[in-house]
Amino acid sequence: MLAAGVIKKIVKGVGLERRHVAPARMFCERYALATFGHEHQRPGGRILAYHSVGQPAWGVNDVSPQQFRRHLDLALELGYRFVPASQIALTGGAPMDLAVTFDDGARSVATVAAPILRDYGIPYTVFPVTDWTDGKVEHFVGKVMTWDEMAGLVTSGAEIGSHSVTHSDFAAMSPDRYEHELAESRRIIRSRLGCTTETFAIPLGQARHWTAAAGDAARAAGYAIVYSQSEETRPAGTIARTFVTQFDADYIFRVLLRGAFDWWDEWF
Ligand SMILES: [Zn+2]
Repeated sequence: MLAAGVIKKIVKGVGLERRHVAPARMFCERYALATFGHEHQRPGGRILAYHSVGQPAWGVNDVSPQQFRRHLDLALELGYRFVPASQIALTGGAPMDLAVTFDDGARSVATVAAPILRDYGIPYTVFPVTDWTDGKVEHFVGKVMTWDEMAGLVTSGAEIGSHSVTHSDFAAMSPDRYEHELAESRRIIRSRLGCTTETFAIPLGQARHWTAAAGDAARAAGYAIVYSQSEETRPAGTIARTFVTQFDADYIFRVLLRGAFDWWDEWF
């Protein structure tokens, strides 16, 4: 893995920008871990965390439609079975169970991924950020799906969870603030879509973005399941997910399914 300090010096020295260097660093990490990292045999199922499909605004977290189809085909060829994420979260699932989730409510999930998943008959979960979907953050207007588009996904069987109101770092918030982020996002989803959500995906998602007190507040707000990131670094009381990136061609995706990234936190 390349040291962050070395990268910073290179960036400063040659005038490169983070948006150029960070993807290169992640590409190196993904290949190095896939090649030299240890695999991790899981006793239960695995939950994949995607963001967008064919929407470059999500940077390294965007996978192309072709890549997304290839992941599904590869998993099915290898004998995996797709089940709802909540089934794995609540029961542990079987070793060949896989689930698909999408963070942030990106528009391409409705326009590109959902039709593909419908073709395959694969269940999935979407975690919107309610202020983004409400159109309150200009940067995301047009980039995230509308509530009407999300309602269409619910009608076709998608599960909706919360990804907070503002997508901020819970570890840096006062209790009043994170209680609001948890309860208000749940209330907004219920008022916009008419469904009660009991699942929450931690914004930013790394172990350092969550606290035990936030976990208690999530349970008090009505969430039965809190999703985090990697198996080995996740905070207590949360359910691990495996992040998928744009670098995950067949070779990487195969070892990802075998646990090569189970201690790796997506950091972009
Ligand atoms: Zn997110």
